[in-house]
Amino acid sequence: MPTVYLGLGTNIGYKKENLTRAIEALSLALGRYTSLSSFLETAPWGFESDNTFLNCVVSFETDLTPQELLDTTERIERGLGRTVKSNGGIYHDRTIDIDILLYGSEIIKTPRLTIPHPLMHQRAFVLEPLAEIASDLVHPTIGKSIKQLANEQNNGKY
Ligand code: AMP
Repeated sequence: MPTVYLGLGTNIGYKKENLTRAIEALSLALGRYTSLSSFLETAPWGFESDNTFLNCVVSFETDLTPQELLDTTERIERGLGRTVKSNGGIYHDRTIDIDILLYGSEIIKTPRLTIPHPLMHQRAFVLEPLAEIASDLVHPTIGKSIKQLANEQNNGKY
C-alpha cells in the first residue's frame, strides 16, 4: 500500500484540538497513522491575518485511490466546520485545511488534484514538519530529499 503524507493546518478556534480531531477522523477513515510530526506554530502564508497557524504532517498507508482520499479529506474538513474553500489563490482563515502532499511516489495531475502538492517545496510550514518524519524521502518531480528542500527553503532558494 502506498504511504500518503497529509499536511494539516488551522488558524481559528481551539487549534490544537482542531488538529487532534482531524487526525482522529483521518485515523477512523484510513487506519492508524504511520507517523506524525510535532505541531508547529507558523505565520499565515498568502494572506493577511492576525491568527497564526498550527501545522503538522501525518502519514498513512492506504488503499484508497487519490480521488477517494481527496473525497475523504474534504468530508473531514466539512465535518470539522470548514465552510470556505480557497479559490483562485485567495486564502481565508480556516478551522482545518488538509492537503495531500505526497501519494507514494506518484505524479498526478487532474483538474481536481495535483500531487505532489504544487506548493509544498516552497512552504516551511510543510517542509519543516515533513522533514521531522521523512527527511530522506525524495520529492518525485524535483528529485531532492525533503531534508535538502527544507535547507534550501531556509536559505531562500524557493
Ligand atoms: P484548499 O481550499 O486550499 O483546501 O484547496 C482545495 C482545492 O484544491 C480542492 O478543490 C482540490 O480539488 C484542490 N487540490 C488540488 N491538488 C490538491 C492536493 N494535492 N491536496 C488537496 N487539494 C488539492
